[in-house]
Amino acid sequence: MSSFVIDLGSLRPGLTRVELEAGPRDLDLPETEWTGRVRGVLDVERTGERLTLRGTLSAQARVECVRCLVAYDLPVEARLELFAERAGTGRRTEEEALERDDYMKFHDGRKLDLREDARETLLLELPMIPRCREGCRGLCPRCGADLNQGPCGCPES
Ligand SMILES: [Zn+2]
Ligand SMILES: [Zn+2]
Repeated sequence: MSSFVIDLGSLRPGLTRVELEAGPRDLDLPETEWTGRVRGVLDVERTGERLTLRGTLSAQARVECVRCLVAYDLPVEARLELFAERAGTGRRTEEEALERDDYMKFHDGRKLDLREDARETLLLELPMIPRCREGCRGLCPRCGADLNQGPCGCPES
């Protein structure tokens, strides 16, 4: 079982720091793009069946620089914040409406599954335009040489 599933039976009332760890595959993230373990450190506050979770996720993604096309590993950190209530305490339609809200989840009183939340949060954190470094010089449009390695010899235009 993935450790991004919190066992509520062992969670006492009040504030608990919960540390989670899983491989990318457990979170349905492709291992070719997610090259490290996924970790989470969450402060979980329990009041009866109501849970408030706040913390950070960290992982490592392999992305490709848009300028020089070199693949590199990027540390990814993301905040995770959500609330969870026990299912069945409100009206069903009300719960479905609430669940569409990103921050609200429902649990069954035994387990709280955070795999999808972790996955979505990490995917949102990926840069749209990855750059391997500040000021990457990119590839020469004529010969395709990586200009970070030095000038390619093409005449300057
Ligand atoms: Zn680059
Ligand atoms: Zn060139």
